[in-house]
Amino acid sequence: MTGYRTGALDISLAARRIISVPTQLGCRIGCTFCVSGEGPLARNLTSPEILHLVEEALRAAPPDGRPLELSFTREGEPALNWRQAAAVCEALPGISADFDSVRYCFSGLGADRLLGKLDGGSFPTRLQLSLHAARQPVRDRLVRNSAPLPTILAAIQLHQGRFSSIELNVVLQDGVNDSDEDLAALARWGSPAWPILLNPLLRDGAEVPGRRAEYFESRLRLAGRTARRYREIGARISRGGIYPLMAARRR
Ligand code: SF4
Repeated sequence: MTGYRTGALDISLAARRIISVPTQLGCRIGCTFCVSGEGPLARNLTSPEILHLVEEALRAAPPDGRPLELSFTREGEPALNWRQAAAVCEALPGISADFDSVRYCFSGLGADRLLGKLDGGSFPTRLQLSLHAARQPVRDRLVRNSAPLPTILAAIQLHQGRFSSIELNVVLQDGVNDSDEDLAALARWGSPAWPILLNPLLRDGAEVPGRRAEYFESRLRLAGRTARRYREIGARISRGGIYPLMAARRR
């Protein structure tokens, strides 16, 4: 990438591979727990640039029959670069016949205008909302540039037919978003059909699992929610010295 160093992240699981790509250099959402939130947005990536990152990942580890998912979950807000992301999805079948799904992460910025723009082309398309907290004041401190929670919820309900699944991502942080009030709000937010993914904070190359993550998982399940606590994927990533939200660096 001219002037910058960035790349795709190849998350290799037993039954499938996830090729996670950035959509922007820098990010203007400004999440307080993300290194990309510290700097300004440099620019959107073009679809040829994103496809080049996908091709590089597949050159390093050629397809081996496992299904591939293209995941817009690295640096940037894909909804702010939705045309280029859609063009990437259109071109995917020409890169490998093993791609079988697309995933978008979404911060909630401009939810009423932008959520309906996310387009996975011919692929089943998964939506991962970066929820992080279901109480507005707590979320405002974590995700600094986003629509209010009721607007996000209304937009998801309006557009949920576009998505094959909807997941709620929560990076659980000690003393930040892990109170009993946060737990109760999380249990109530959205639909029980939307799984809640509890992820560790990634800081300085290491996972920082929330001390209450196991408790959150069990209480959310008791409340009728599907909750999944992730440690292994994060561990595999950090062992490779790569953070999923690592900012592109100027050379
Ligand atoms: S977590 Fe995602 S949306 Fe938030 S600042 Fe980082 S790259 Fe941007």
